[in-house]
Amino acid sequence: MIVKSQNENTDRQKEELTELLQWLCTAPNISSYRINTLVGTTEEILSEMKKKFKNISGASIELCPYLPDVIIVRNINVKDLDLTRRSLEVVIDVHCAESVLRGAHIFAPGVMGMLTGITLNDKVSIYADLENNCRKGFQKVFNSDKKLFIGNGIVKMTRSDLFGENLNPSGVAVEVYSNISGCILIEPNFLPEGSCLLQNLPSIICTHVLNPIPGECVLDMCAAPGNKTTHIAALMRNEGTLVAIDKTPSKIKQLQRNGAKFKTKVSIYQADSTKILDYTISTQSERLISDGPPFRSESFDKILLDAPCSALGKRPQLCNKSSEKVIKSFVPLQRKLLRNAVHLLKVNGKLVYSTCTITQAENEGMVAWFLTKFKCMRLCKAELHVGGSGWPTEGLCDTDLEKLQRFGPNSNVDSVGFFIALFVKEFSVDTT
Ligand code: SAM
Repeated sequence: MIVKSQNENTDRQKEELTELLQWLCTAPNISSYRINTLVGTTEEILSEMKKKFKNISGASIELCPYLPDVIIVRNINVKDLDLTRRSLEVVIDVHCAESVLRGAHIFAPGVMGMLTGITLNDKVSIYADLENNCRKGFQKVFNSDKKLFIGNGIVKMTRSDLFGENLNPSGVAVEVYSNISGCILIEPNFLPEGSCLLQNLPSIICTHVLNPIPGECVLDMCAAPGNKTTHIAALMRNEGTLVAIDKTPSKIKQLQRNGAKFKTKVSIYQADSTKILDYTISTQSERLISDGPPFRSESFDKILLDAPCSALGKRPQLCNKSSEKVIKSFVPLQRKLLRNAVHLLKVNGKLVYSTCTITQAENEGMVAWFLTKFKCMRLCKAELHVGGSGWPTEGLCDTDLEKLQRFGPNSNVDSVGFFIALFVKEFSVDTT
């Protein structure tokens, strides 16, 4: 047995935290595109993408070795990019800079400052204002030690288009031709509508872990904007029953739009998933799933709970101002949602719990609480297991940790921070 001193443990934890924070500040080295297999095959889309991008030197577009519906685009080696700093500069906000590092162009609302005298089609260097200090419309060189060089681009909107009075500009303000992450974005507008979606790998893996099949009755409890719902429908080949719920009215509209765009057969309801269960509905009742919520106990074969969470797994994150209070606020809601999921699931049914965050309380801590609270639920190792193990946590043994999938700096998948746990319900919950 290796016994470590407390100092050694603390030093290791500090190193791990530094490594995690550095990882979160950088963009992944790949982008992943999920192919909607209801519309076309992965091979067809791959061939279209390769044809379209054959002129981008260094672009590598290939099939994902372990997911049949995913195409991986590797970032270009930054040594092959023109990252020479130019005297003309444009300053953008942090949110916009994060998108540029994932391959986006700069849209008008993200521009904070632009030197006077810059004209259309000028080549400029792009800087992020990490501390939000640059005033909108700033016209000089922005001097700040919290200014980060992001890349180079060509101006498509000038100061008068961007900062004139009573303007609400939209559209591309700067076309980015190089960025420090080397990420390129493939706009899928040359492909049939709804055939392809830019989606982070762990999110795609999450739905494969649920493994919905045609004919099943599946519930997506927190579904908007529908990235996983549309994937579930594709794996079910639109056969069976798929119910998607979300609490937020504006997001329901997005979910409906995406459902239609991806040719998805799904029943969408705006509801609070902590209140969609009614134990009192008996099996003799004529109420059907197609009547919408509330549902009777043990209605679904499979349930996805992609929970509302502190979302700290996003990459790159150049700045995060979430308060501790907000970060901690998700645990009670996640517990309520999990409680409902257990009751709504049939015996032998599968539940996937996932988050796009890194906190232990929302991930391993939640699993430990859940297993103590619901003896009917067994933690399982998914067939598709490509994430790293869970973090050591009170209440979980090493075997439990190996069943979890945590996506972070040490996992084999270079993507965002994410967490997946798979459970099977072994017997009914006693509600007496
Ligand atoms: N699964 C989605 C996807 O892949 O596109 C992302 C889901 S996002 C992580 C969490 C969602 O939970 C948000 O859209 C939010 O509106 C919704 N939400 C929050 N509280 C909820 C509740 N009590 N009931 C249902 N949905 C809720």
